[in-house]
Amino acid sequence: MSNSSEKISYEELLERVKSLEQDNDVLASRAEEILLLSLLGNNISTINAERELIDELLENASILLNIPYCLFFSKNKNMYELVSYYDAVNHTYNYDDKMCISDGIYEELNLSGIYFEKIIKIESQLKYKFPIEVTEYTEVLFLPFESMWITRGLLMFVVDGENLSLASRIMLLQQAERLVIDKIDKLSYIKKIEQLNVNLEHRVKERTLELQDSNRKLIKEISERNEIQKELVKARDRAQEADRLKSVFLANMSHEIRTPMNAVVGFSEVLESGVCNTDEMQRYSKLIHSNSMMLLNLINDLLDFSKIEANQMEIKMRTCNINKILDEVFAMGLSFKQQLYRDKITLKIIKGEKDIKSNFITDEHRLKQILINLVSNAIKFSKKGFVIVQYSVMQNNILFSVSDEGIGIDESMHEAIFNRFTRVGNDKSKSILGNGLGLTITRNLVEMLGGEISVESEEGKGSVFVFNIPKKVEHVSMVGG
Ligand code: ADP
Repeated sequence: MSNSSEKISYEELLERVKSLEQDNDVLASRAEEILLLSLLGNNISTINAERELIDELLENASILLNIPYCLFFSKNKNMYELVSYYDAVNHTYNYDDKMCISDGIYEELNLSGIYFEKIIKIESQLKYKFPIEVTEYTEVLFLPFESMWITRGLLMFVVDGENLSLASRIMLLQQAERLVIDKIDKLSYIKKIEQLNVNLEHRVKERTLELQDSNRKLIKEISERNEIQKELVKARDRAQEADRLKSVFLANMSHEIRTPMNAVVGFSEVLESGVCNTDEMQRYSKLIHSNSMMLLNLINDLLDFSKIEANQMEIKMRTCNINKILDEVFAMGLSFKQQLYRDKITLKIIKGEKDIKSNFITDEHRLKQILINLVSNAIKFSKKGFVIVQYSVMQNNILFSVSDEGIGIDESMHEAIFNRFTRVGNDKSKSILGNGLGLTITRNLVEMLGGEISVESEEGKGSVFVFNIPKKVEHVSMVGG
């Protein structure tokens, strides 16, 4: 080894130191950049705890600045409490709530700017055992600082004093200070963003609730509108059906009126002409009478129907004798049978009670009307066989039935025949006079008396109309013994 080769001039040395310092600067700023990038690279939403951020800061500072043990204190009342530390030797973060520094030490540190102390001394003050090996070179570097976010904080770095020059220590601490303050200010910024985020989330929630509410209202409105629409469609269908039935009714009615009217006018003209003998005269006047009765019945039906439609039908309840009503129905049935020349029909009445026990409270006139309607239909729609009217008294009801062995009704029409103007569309029944109102009036009357009516029938085999009315009896008070 030659002396000349080993000898370095003072200028050269200065040059080298300068270039090393420059390298150092470049490295330091690069390190700072990396640290900041690593911090900023974190997704804001994942940084949710102050503690985590400080841990990260300590770890980064420890790695980049080669400090084995970094601690972070924050001021609480008059003590500096340990928030967190990073132990680079064991790669652990930790926190010990016993570890704190008195405010006095901070003042002392703050005054001196940067403070050095042997770890042993600090340890006795902190009553805390550091996990790293403490040698005579172990030093503690304190960095007091303030920032936007933390008014007073303290960073503590435990370093190996043997390997560090004073200049390096100062540089180290200044770098750490810059990093920490930058980082903490960024934290405050992140905090603000987080707060904004919270506000935004709050507003979004509010708006969502508002939207959900208006959505619910809208759905309700739509379903209400749908309901109204359905009702409108139903009403339209009903109106169309009513219109159709009215036309059918008018066509029927003209037939219904013309037929007996023609008979009345025609036969009265024949009688007037004076060319008839006594027998003919008798027959024609009978025909005029029966056709006039038919017209009268038609007018009565129409009047009753309009009263029912206008809710004007009156019911007069009083005690009446059902057997007597049946007798009258029988007499009218016989006469109707004669008018229609139904000789092969046998009309029969079966009374459920003796005359004395057949007094019940109901509307006599309406009950008679119901029975006459059913008996007339039974005679009208039968050629032969029995037409039987009977009743039986049950516990709460009186049950009536009118049966015949006539043309019968197809099952599909059992309900429809009770609707106004409805007539069964087979040829046999269509040729028979009728306005399609009889059963509508009948059902309404039965219901007004408090009962129900139904039919059992099979085409070609006859029909049984059954209805009930409530059994009501007058209470006779017994006077004396
Ligand atoms: P109308 O007898 O005036 O036509 P109704 O309302 O009394 O009107 O009867 C409606 C329809 O029901 C009749 O046109 C007929 O087709 C049918 N009907 C009613 N009673 C009988 C019955 N006893 N046997 C067969 N069909 C019947």
